This record gives sequence, C-alpha cells and structure tokens, in this order.
Amino acid sequence: MNAEADVTVVGSGPNGLAAAVTMARAGLSVLVLERADTIGGGARTAELTLPGFHHDVCSAVHPMAMASPFFRQFGLADRIELVVPDVSYGHPLDDGSAGIAYRDLGRTADGLGPDGAAWTRLFAPLVDQIDGVVDFTTNQLLRMPRSPLTAVAFALRALEQGTPLWNRRFAQDSAPAMLTGVMAHSMARMPQLASAGAGLVLAAHAHARGWPIPIGGSQAIVDALAEDLRGHGGIIRTGVDVTSLGELDSRAVLLDVTPRALVAMAGERLPAPYRRALERYRYGNGAAKVDFALSGPVPWTNTALAEAPTVHLGGNRAQIAEAEAQTSRGEHSANPYVLVSQPSVVDPGRAPDGKQVLWAYSHVPSGSTRDPVEDVTRQIERFAPGFRDVVLATASMSASELESYNPNYVGGDIGAGAISIRQLLRRPVLSTNPWRTPLAGVYLASAATPPGPAVHGLAGWHAARHALAEVFGLRASPSLAPGS
Ligand SMILES: Cc1cc2nc3c(=O)[nH]c(=O)nc-3n(C[C@H](O)[C@H](O)[C@H](O)COP(=O)(O)OP(=O)(O)OC[C@H]3O[C@@H](n4cnc5c(N)ncnc54)[C@H](O)[C@@H]3O)c2cc1C
Repeated sequence: MNAEADVTVVGSGPNGLAAAVTMARAGLSVLVLERADTIGGGARTAELTLPGFHHDVCSAVHPMAMASPFFRQFGLADRIELVVPDVSYGHPLDDGSAGIAYRDLGRTADGLGPDGAAWTRLFAPLVDQIDGVVDFTTNQLLRMPRSPLTAVAFALRALEQGTPLWNRRFAQDSAPAMLTGVMAHSMARMPQLASAGAGLVLAAHAHARGWPIPIGGSQAIVDALAEDLRGHGGIIRTGVDVTSLGELDSRAVLLDVTPRALVAMAGERLPAPYRRALERYRYGNGAAKVDFALSGPVPWTNTALAEAPTVHLGGNRAQIAEAEAQTSRGEHSANPYVLVSQPSVVDPGRAPDGKQVLWAYSHVPSGSTRDPVEDVTRQIERFAPGFRDVVLATASMSASELESYNPNYVGGDIGAGAISIRQLLRRPVLSTNPWRTPLAGVYLASAATPPGPAVHGLAGWHAARHALAEVFGLRASPSLAPGS
C-alpha cells in the first residue's frame, strides 16, 4: 500500500518522530502515519479552555528532554527556546511550609534545615556524576554501565529509598515529602525500587541540568522534530489509524504503539511465546487531567511556590504513599496525588495579559471515568485557599478519556506500561534488543520500550539505530545536528 517509502513509522509521538528523523537522516525515505488529526502524541499544545490560553495537553515539563543523548545530538536547545527555571519544583505541606528544589543543590539544602545535610549526601554523588546516571538510565538495563561506580552509588540509594528503610536519613517532613512527590511521577505503590529509581533520576536532574519548559509549550519539541524530518524528505500523514501490519509494506516498520496494539495489529503473525510475553505486559494506574484558565496567579499559602513551575500536592510522605496505595487498590483517594505545572510563571505568552494557564493531573485507578475537576480543585485549594476564585474555565479528561485521546495510554496509564522492576527489565520483553520484534523489519519504538516514558525520543532513536543496522546494514549512527 505504501511501498513508496523504505520506512513506515506508525505514530507521531516524540519517539515516533525521533525514529523517523533518525531513519530519514540516514538517507532513507520515511512515511509517518498518525491516527490523530495533529502530530505530537503526548507532546501537543492547544487552546483547550478559552481563546488565547495555550495548554499542554500532555507533557509540560521536560527534564528528560534536556538529559536525552538523542535531543542533545539533535541540538534541541538550539532549535527551540527552553527555559530552565531556578526552581525545579516545590512541595507544600499543611503547616504552610514548602520544600523548594532549586537547581542549586546547596540552596535547596539550606532550606531543608536539619535534613539539608542528608539531602546533600543523597544527591551530591548523583548530581556530580550526572552523565554517568544518564548513561545507564537512558538505555536498556542489560548492559554494562560506562560508570559502574555511579551505578553502584545510584543502586544503593534506590535500595534505601525503595524499601522500608526510606525514612532512615530524614528527621523532618519536608525533605522526604519532596522526594516522594518526585517518586510519585511513576504512578505506583511506594516504597518500591522502580519508583525510587525514577524519582532519584528526576530529582538528580532537578539539581543538575534542571527541569526545562519550552516557550510556547511542548508542541515546540515535536514541531522541531517534524520540521527536521520534512527537511530530510520525510512525509507525515495524519488521520490514518493503522489497524493491521498488513496495511504496511515498507522494508522497516517502526511502531510508536503499545505491546497491546502490536498484538492487535499483527494478528496470528506473532510467534506464540512472544505474543504471550506481550499479553503479560502490565499497564499502570491512570491519570486524570485538568487544564485551568486563570484570571491571575494561584494564591499559594506559601508564597515561594509562586516561582515554582512544578508543584507536587498530596501532603507528607505517608499521606502520598497512602494515596498511591489506595489508587493501586482501585480506589479513588480522598487525598489524591496531584501534579501541577504553572508554565505561565516562566512563559507568560501562554495566556492573555495578566492571566495564566495551569496544568494538573491526579492519580486515579486504571480506566476511571470520574471527572477530575472537583478532586483536583479541592487539592489545590488545600494549599491555596481562594484558588476557585481565580478559575475562569476548565477542560478535563478522565483516565478513560485519555485512552480515547491516545490509545498508548491504556486505562489512562500515561507511561504506556506500569513502572516496576519487572517492567524495567522486561519492557516489553527481557532482551538485549527489546525494540526488535520476531517479525522481520518490525520494531517497537514507543515508551513501552527502554528507557520508558517521558519526552526524550530515546526509545525511537534506539529502535531506529537497530533497524538501520539490522535491516539496511547501516551501522554508523547518522548525524542529527542542526544544519547537517
Ligand atoms: C497527561 C500527561 C502528562 C505528561 N507529562 C509529562 C511531562 O511533563 N514530561 C514528560 O517528559 N512526559 C510527560 N508525559 C509522558 C510523555 O508524554 C510520554 O511518555 C511520551 O509522549 C511518549 O512518547 P511516545 O512517542 O512513546 O508515545 P506518544 O507520545 O503517546 O505517541 C504515540 C502516538 O502514536 C499514535 N498512534 C497510536 N496508535 C496508532 C495507530 N494504530 N495508528 C496511527 N497512529 C497511532 C498516537 O495517536 C500518538 O500520536 C505525560 C503524558 C501525559 C498523558
């Protein structure tokens, strides 16, 4: 049907486009097919509430884009404007205090009183060796890390923060709450090793390269990828929902979809053991999203939060752990974990003069159909009384609506697969090349492959480089640099 291209990429999320750019830059003809009417997958920006209010539909804050070897080679920071704020994230508590994670580790520790030294001892070795941390967290785990000592330092910290020992080093509430707020990005019961690992990586980046926000929204990232792809002859077709691999006859097919979708698309073609492995792949808890148009800033009780582009809500460590446990049991917590991004703090152009956009999602059971507006509003009010008075309009998506929006988010799981130790090793299968499928020329390239979720393009890049070598005999990785 489309032998017009050497390579077909299904899905135009950050990983699909990263794969497409890599293949096109190797001199191959590339066709991207996207089911939605616009490109971008989990990195789109749109006027969801009122005219002039530009909301990130999914991703908002991009520590992994900054750290990603793919985006560093692509020169993302030279192609779009990325603001790296002084404050990476904030975490308020009920007593009116708030932990603030500055990019500056020392300044962060100074704000943590008696726990400041413990915070420094936890993070300094990871921040100082951030390239070593990036090396083993941006690939599949079955390989020798380039910096084994950094890997050991990281593993020891994950063992502490991912087990009941996790309170050992802390004396007060703020520091452990801050770390738990970051660990909760993995949307799982805590403490557990995979959440601890994910949290330590993100929290280390907060003090190393920062948590950047693209001016104009996350759409800027995928637009830069699409522009580069088109500049190298690639074609993108939107509004094409691929339901069967039989529709595609390129030499290489890269799929920015979940294992579940691959099973559906491949029908009987998959060997039974591989098919069973994909069917065993588990999806995690759901997210339910709310976008707010605001008449002005959020009236945070703790005014330091006015400077924080990202704020984690849910209270202290024990309260957040309890909420995540409830969610994992399939219950809606009365005190859900809520992740807030206030991009207007660094990018005032997202809303008309003096107004703001606010982005938030709460954790809910998989497949939840509950509208999140009231739950999220209540949680923000807890730390910002009077918040309701600044709300002009809202737009929301329940977890099940998130899956309708993008089938990669099964049951509202924005990670395209649960984050657990099992699924860090088996993503989706235990292999030194988990991107390759048993079908000749067919590769999985989505967040359901290593290194997992977030906007980093790495799953697509890894899949593409394997496809270049294995299908086309091209072993050298093409240059991604701007202008090349
Ligand atoms: C609410 C939310 C908030 C998030 N916040 C952040 C954040 O702040 N920072 C961060 O780094 N990450 C964040 N993420 C995660 C991030 O968006 C994803 O990990 C990332 O987009 C995954 O990229 P991907 O290319 O693998 O898949 P996706 O971005 O999901 O793209 C998959 C694409 O494939 C298309 N597709 C699927 N099936 C088919 C088919 N059969 N035919 C044709 N097209 C198909 C989909 O329409 C979609 O466009 C968030 C996600 C969500 C949902």
